[in-house]
Amino acid sequence: MGKYIFITGGVVSSLGKGVVSASLGLLLRASGVGVSFLKFDPYLNRDAGTMNPHQHGEVFVTEDGAETDLDLGHYERFADVTLGRRSNVTTGQIYGSVLDRERRGDYDGATVQVVPHVVDAIKEAIVRAEAPEADVILVELGGTVGDIEGMPFVEAIRQFMLERGKGDAVLLHLALLPGLPAGDRELKTKPAQHSAQKLRECGLQMDFLLCRSETPMPEEARRKLALHTNVKPDRVIEVPDVRLIYDVPEHLRRQGLDRLLCSRLGLAHREPDLAPWRKFAVAAASPRKIRIAAVGKYSGMADCYKSLGEALLHAAAANGAGLDLDWLDAEALEAGDAPALLAGHSGLVVPGGFGYRGAEGKMRAIRWAREGKVPYLGLCYGLQCAVVEFARNVCGAAGAMSAEWAGDMELPSSDCWVTLLDNQGRATPRGGTLRLGSQPCRLAPGSRALAAYGADLIEERHRHRYEVNPEKTAILERNGMAVSGRHPEKGLVEIVELPGDQWFVATQAHPEFKSRPLRPHPLFLSFLRAAIAWK
Ligand code: GLN
Repeated sequence: MGKYIFITGGVVSSLGKGVVSASLGLLLRASGVGVSFLKFDPYLNRDAGTMNPHQHGEVFVTEDGAETDLDLGHYERFADVTLGRRSNVTTGQIYGSVLDRERRGDYDGATVQVVPHVVDAIKEAIVRAEAPEADVILVELGGTVGDIEGMPFVEAIRQFMLERGKGDAVLLHLALLPGLPAGDRELKTKPAQHSAQKLRECGLQMDFLLCRSETPMPEEARRKLALHTNVKPDRVIEVPDVRLIYDVPEHLRRQGLDRLLCSRLGLAHREPDLAPWRKFAVAAASPRKIRIAAVGKYSGMADCYKSLGEALLHAAAANGAGLDLDWLDAEALEAGDAPALLAGHSGLVVPGGFGYRGAEGKMRAIRWAREGKVPYLGLCYGLQCAVVEFARNVCGAAGAMSAEWAGDMELPSSDCWVTLLDNQGRATPRGGTLRLGSQPCRLAPGSRALAAYGADLIEERHRHRYEVNPEKTAILERNGMAVSGRHPEKGLVEIVELPGDQWFVATQAHPEFKSRPLRPHPLFLSFLRAAIAWK
């Protein structure tokens, strides 16, 4: 049976609980402790799949095809673990399962209530998160303690901790210590104290208090917080702002958090060797930067494409460079002078996307890269745009489109280059009906993709509804765009590329989800190498 670390937040949301949980996962793994994760999201959506990334950040896709919260990306990247759908549970899922059971008659005539039925379903989800390799499961509760919608989860944590006992479960609370801009920015401890009180009202006593602040925490604040929150002073841990999130694990290690947690949970602990991680963190902060343009619809919000930014940064660091990633708004490229806006970048990425808005701007960018021989990496929608751009401007199909962009309009078959295949249908309901999760792909001999991956059968995660129209692949190939990756059984187009000296590769998958700081993704490594050489 695994042990549990619960992580809650207080005062405000978006404190970086995900990064702190992920950092703890990394530290514990490096200390010889196996870890797994569970993120509770108290919203009613069944999963993040139907949510606008503008509001909630990237939808992170797991190997088993779950559409999850972006924090799972932090967990996988920091702790170098692979998670699945059991690692992200929402209120919608909990209520869904309770209501299904009620209809089946499983409650045997009882009045179905939040306590005990909903809370029991949450406790079952906690137990289900156990994994054979995990000595410890880190359970992060989204939002802030005191939020109405989070209360059943807080109650479930209380009951679970009581049932498991002190040696098997510990509670960490992350709170903000604000510094008032008008004053001398002295860090205020009162909101954190109130947050501790709120927890106590719910029957929970935190074991560790993690303090998020702009500046390091003075000794006086630590002493005061320890006294008022009922936590030993060495268990009041500071988490000040850092240059890059990769510095957080080292910061926690220096305060002995991994050692203290292991001793509290009765787990063997060895001093973690963070040298490779530190080396990566230094490389990531390198002042010598490679300038890459990414064209998206949600520009100005790097969180919408979190894993892409990370994968590029991992690959840049491995190539000895920092990353200067410029987010360009697809609609600005449509309206303005695209080549002028793109000039000065050593590589272009068009990431995933949905709908028609911004497609023309993305294709203008791709044309700029293709004609100027600038390295290009297309991801999912970025492949579909590359195919349509090539159809229009090289194959002479001026009206080429994706069926997705035509909406309810029927496209003549000559114009339909990206399409819904019969077995995919126009899916209703919308949630969870895409081609999702890990899928195989066979790479063509002699291709750039094969050279990058170094293996001819690969697997990548997918999240899309549309496919390159199989009737058009011969025309693409005749005009010089190679299909260098296909699904081995279904024959679907997975990767296209332009042969010759230019690095121009687009994939129907989302390889960015599999990149890890210490194991950068081969396709990103190859792209970055080309971008550095191109410069
Ligand atoms: N909208 C496209 C599709 O559904 C691409 C999706 C994506 O980029 N993830 O096929």
